[in-house]
Amino acid sequence: MNANLYALFASHFPEDKSSCCMETHDGRYYSWDDVERASAKMANLLSSLDLQKDARIAVQVEKSPEALILYLATIRAGYVYLPLNTAYRAAEVGYFIENAEPEVVVCSPHNFGWVSQLAFQAGTKHVYTLDAPAEGRNSGSLLNRAIPHADSFRTVHKEPDDLAAILYTSGTTGRSKGAMLTHDNLASNALVLKQAWHWQKNDVLLHTLPLFHVHGLFVASHGALLNGSKMIFLPKFDAAQVMQYLPQSTVFMGVPTYYVRLLQENGLDKQSCANMRLFISGSAPLLLDTFNEFTRRTGHTILERYGMSETTMQVSNPYRGERKGGTVGLPLQDVDVRVVKADNAPCSPNEIGDIQVKGPNVFKGYWRMPEKTAEEFTSDGYFRTGDVGRFDKEGYLSIVGRSKDLIISGGYNVYPKEIESFIDEMDGVVESAVIGVPHAEFGEAVTAVIVLKPGAHLSEAGVIAALKAEIANFKVPKRVHFVNELPRNTMGKVQKNVLRDLYQ
Ligand code: ATP
Ligand code: MG
Repeated sequence: MNANLYALFASHFPEDKSSCCMETHDGRYYSWDDVERASAKMANLLSSLDLQKDARIAVQVEKSPEALILYLATIRAGYVYLPLNTAYRAAEVGYFIENAEPEVVVCSPHNFGWVSQLAFQAGTKHVYTLDAPAEGRNSGSLLNRAIPHADSFRTVHKEPDDLAAILYTSGTTGRSKGAMLTHDNLASNALVLKQAWHWQKNDVLLHTLPLFHVHGLFVASHGALLNGSKMIFLPKFDAAQVMQYLPQSTVFMGVPTYYVRLLQENGLDKQSCANMRLFISGSAPLLLDTFNEFTRRTGHTILERYGMSETTMQVSNPYRGERKGGTVGLPLQDVDVRVVKADNAPCSPNEIGDIQVKGPNVFKGYWRMPEKTAEEFTSDGYFRTGDVGRFDKEGYLSIVGRSKDLIISGGYNVYPKEIESFIDEMDGVVESAVIGVPHAEFGEAVTAVIVLKPGAHLSEAGVIAALKAEIANFKVPKRVHFVNELPRNTMGKVQKNVLRDLYQ
């Protein structure tokens, strides 16, 4: 059997291939037949380049249906897809190209000058733009070059363990690492999610996430591809635009900030969401306030799930059964999740420990980092996620933070999430981040950074006094800073390392 992920998708394309696979905000329509033929043309082009068997194809382009088709063409042709965040500039792109040594680099026309220079310096043989610049024809574009190629292609045979993609992590805790994902990692996870989230025949996915990250590229797109479902494919998240498309959609996936912004739309109510079946959140913690407010306004309970570049999805709130706010739910089918103490002994319910996972979804290792890979696996084969959490008595997992963000003050462990929850409950607070900064006496001093609602007046002394009445002294912040917003990366994750540098 061919374990190529594309073959799996193709076997689930709808019978009527003239039906819509992707529709854009500016009226473009891509049928399943278009996707099959265009990916064949691109796969034929890539195959004509005489690349090595495991060649990496690095892609830094704006989101578009063509970009998704290029992803499909790459795996179809048996190469390894390597998406890059569109926000990355020369220092970052240079690092990724040197690190991954892609044989092909595809970029946006407006970046061609500096990207091609970096790529050629690093020895990349082929550098293309995906499409031509608006003002003229560019024969170097990959789309133009694909035109003369045949529109059928025999999907290359792959073994389950062959690499399909290298996904660089978001770099929230340090330099990004390349997670090597196999065809089977991606296929098994997509199949499990199809069942877990009850994908249905008439589903329409409102796709607003970026295509360079696990959430938008794998979780969202794979869900629709494996179910033969139409995607409304928007170039980026825009709350007003989402409101416009909700009545035609049934499934939406977003990071917590998307939900915060949707709640600022006056039109968000039961009626505008009447056609919707499922709202999913992930990539960063969803505040309980957002979760509750969304239910109140729309009648929909957001389904929160937990995953990462290295493992794709591992834990999810149930489709049927209680979706518990503040938790990420139950381990997915076939995924073994445990919470353990320092000596790898299992924690009891509600006891906090390190989250570890094992299963067909877990990646092969970090690209060219064998020592780091070895460090992150236990002797019995579990991957150390770097996240800290606890199971409740019913088996729902809550994430309390990252082990790198854990604060040790005066010899005591302080879990930032616990203190953040107390601060977020205070009147006038939008959100908060609690960090540890070096301190001569305590080792680390608990420090809070708070975003206030407009017009709210809270003082440092007031916050400290209020917390002292509720929690143990060693957990109470020594300092409190007020800011307009928390620093976030493109996936909406709070960058605590930036805060630590700022307030140390
Ligand atoms: P890096 O590994 O480079 O520091 P990163 O961990 O942010 O960056 P990703 O792989 O994109 O890179 O993100 C995975 C992480 O996102 C998880 O380890 C977890 O900390 C966080 N995460 C994902 N989903 C959730 C969720 N529902 N709630 C809380 N945190 C989440
Ligand atoms: Mg990580």
